[in-house]
Amino acid sequence: MDSKTFRNEGYNLIDWIADYLDHAEDFPVLSRSQPGTIHDALPAAAPAHAEPFDQVMADFEKLILPGVTHWNHPRFFAYFPANNSAPSILGELLSAGLGVNAMLWQTSPAATELEQRMMEWLDDLIDLPAGFHGVIQDTASTATLCALLCAREKSTGYEFNAKGSASLEVGRPLRIYCSSEAHSSVIKGARIAGFGDENIVQVAVDKDRAMAPDALAQAIETDLAAGRLPCCIVATVGTTSTTAIDPLQKIGPLARKFDLWLHVDAALAGSAAILPEKRWILDGVEHADSLVFNPHKWLFVNFDCSAFFVRDPGHLERVMAIDPAYLQTDRDSQVTNYRDWGIQLGRRFRALKVWFVLRSYGADRLRAMLAEHIAMAVEFRDWIEGDADWELLAPVPLNTVCFRFHPTGFAGADEELNRLNKDLMDRVNAAGRTYLTHTVLDGCFALRLAVGQTGTQRRHVAEAWEELREKAGEAS
Ligand code: PLP
Repeated sequence: MDSKTFRNEGYNLIDWIADYLDHAEDFPVLSRSQPGTIHDALPAAAPAHAEPFDQVMADFEKLILPGVTHWNHPRFFAYFPANNSAPSILGELLSAGLGVNAMLWQTSPAATELEQRMMEWLDDLIDLPAGFHGVIQDTASTATLCALLCAREKSTGYEFNAKGSASLEVGRPLRIYCSSEAHSSVIKGARIAGFGDENIVQVAVDKDRAMAPDALAQAIETDLAAGRLPCCIVATVGTTSTTAIDPLQKIGPLARKFDLWLHVDAALAGSAAILPEKRWILDGVEHADSLVFNPHKWLFVNFDCSAFFVRDPGHLERVMAIDPAYLQTDRDSQVTNYRDWGIQLGRRFRALKVWFVLRSYGADRLRAMLAEHIAMAVEFRDWIEGDADWELLAPVPLNTVCFRFHPTGFAGADEELNRLNKDLMDRVNAAGRTYLTHTVLDGCFALRLAVGQTGTQRRHVAEAWEELREKAGEAS
């Protein structure tokens, strides 16, 4: 593609994206694509000869777009948001244009130093106590894996890195503690880091689904008495099902008492700590050894961008660093080489989009947008609570509401109520105007509405509520 064509097609593409963002609402939010149809519509092999770009774009619209689920849609209430913004898209584009691999300071000093500064800005915005140092990872899953590796090496004095599982005494496994509501990435990370599923202790939760510190203390004591080796606590600030907040103020002192690594998974909720009225969610974080939160979830930085903070970067580097001759530079003793702060060697220049977003919005506007999302979720909660045919299933500390349709006088079995709600969710999602997903709470099929898309306004939440009631009415 020559420069003239690139320019023209590039302008067209920006127009396309701008129109798309303006009209995301016109698409069915959940793709109606059936399994295999897109794959089958594409040629079996790459083209032998060049094709014009406008033809490629035409095929994108015809073949690919129908298979897109629209995360930018203002009635995307599923999972947690991966919200987005124009400045972030431009930062991503510029990063692609530069084509930088930010693996070493030398491979682009600006990428490393902007990343350092952006992590300081994020650290300041969520008001972390002094002494944390940050790095951008792709996802919270990766950051949690890094934390678990750090914990493992702390417990084994770097012996696991050296000798593998032979460093552990038979019958004395390393143990990880998280709540029964922790994200699946903790289990996956523990598997990859060699702990084994059986050594993840899922600690009981209280009535608000937050980790019960007494149960945690008990689990650690039991393990110690049995000769097992407590290693790491993963506390979740903002669980995936209900955004429950594990009490760091009580968990932290236990981590210190038993000398365990404390990792805080605040994947979604960390962003809310920029709000002074929500900063309490991180009270006690001064006890943590590491923390992750995802600007790509709820801080208008497009996927992917995960902020990982550690207290002791020297330890992280010692756990991660491998120093082959071909990666060494004369500056290594003077600079940060982020290749040693994570799993992968090659790293994208993600700090650029963070910088674009933080400067384009400013902290005030970011705070206002998050506060609006929370206010919309709280209003939706009030609608649920104010209607006798609906039931709230969990507290709403942030932007996510768990609820179900439970018509007055319903006398059927629990399974029937679960089926009714699953069917309701399926019909709402099939209609294409609203997309929400579910969780299961104490055996109850719970509908889940998470407010966090950039374009979501009060009317979109009201429309979702209207549609839920309308569809529920058709069923009962
Ligand atoms: N932790 C929590 C609490 C989450 O809710 C999620 C995803 O929703 C994750 C971790 C995983 O995030 P990622 O996709 O960035 O790995």
